[in-house]
Amino acid sequence: MKILICDPFDPSLPGKLARFGEVTDDPAQLAQADVALVRSKTVCTADWMAGAPNLKLIIRGGVGLDNVDRAAAKERGIEVRNTPEASSVAVAELAMALMIALPNQLIAGHNGMREGKFLKKELKRTELFQKTLGLWGVGRIGTEVARRAAAFGMTVLAYDPFVKSHECAKLVALDTLLAQADYISLHTPLTDDTRGMVNAASLAKMKKGVRIINTGRGKCIDEPALAAALASGHVAGYGTDVWYSDPPDPACPLLQAPNVIRLPHIGASTKENLLRIGVGVEALIGEFAGRKGR
Ligand code: NAD
Repeated sequence: MKILICDPFDPSLPGKLARFGEVTDDPAQLAQADVALVRSKTVCTADWMAGAPNLKLIIRGGVGLDNVDRAAAKERGIEVRNTPEASSVAVAELAMALMIALPNQLIAGHNGMREGKFLKKELKRTELFQKTLGLWGVGRIGTEVARRAAAFGMTVLAYDPFVKSHECAKLVALDTLLAQADYISLHTPLTDDTRGMVNAASLAKMKKGVRIINTGRGKCIDEPALAAALASGHVAGYGTDVWYSDPPDPACPLLQAPNVIRLPHIGASTKENLLRIGVGVEALIGEFAGRKGR
């Protein structure tokens, strides 16, 4: 079996997979690969699959499968698997980090010090305590955020049409969440329903001064609409790990908008998570090899 590692994984992974066959990270070997390991960087289109006639299994290390054309894979008889449980804590901690950094002026304070400015009087902070957090999507990651936000003394609301009850978030209608939340954190997958869900219409329903956290997907945002809401002050802050494209187009209006904390899609990139993803990948390949008698 030839295993092609297309994107960055934990450095220990090739050694762990060697017992299943040849492991390579040489993209020129795509045509010979039986198994391809991707994260979010490689986009597995129908064309990409056409260049991999031997491929039988794509493993997406992590959660979202929006970079894999599953219909094209099905047509070619290629199995698609992922490791959905691994990343929840890593992403939830980053969402919390952004939610803490925005009202505490961490970036402005830090940058000021580097520029020789001691902004003690200028920088005003606000607390998360007794504020309302609205989780747009409350699956694995949203639930981990809910637990952490509750520990900060926040009231946690959630809108998720596919969840009927929740242990630590109060499920509400979307309009209620938009009207009541001081913070809105996005945790839906990218689907036809969630593409551009933060747009002029939904922004208009949010409280003035809302802060939005996005560790979900960049395409869930209508970027010009959000940039306009940041410029007007209707949205007081945006903390994001995700972009319309990776990396963002230099013309992306959120690169210049005020009160934005910008991260380069590192939600899943903790050392611990890469190890957990590696364990999941190894188990999936073991299962595949066992089934195929390889
Ligand atoms: P999950 O499937 O456990 O949870 C997603 C939730 O969204 C589900 O409960 C689902 O019912 C809900 N949902 C679906 N459509 C919805 C809609 N229209 N409105 C409201 N809720 C809706 O997934 P997860 O593990 O929590 O991951 C969520 C997303 O986080 C992933 O799909 C991925 O896009 C993103 N993610 C980002 C990073 C990163 O590096 N920043 C890493 C991992 C995952």
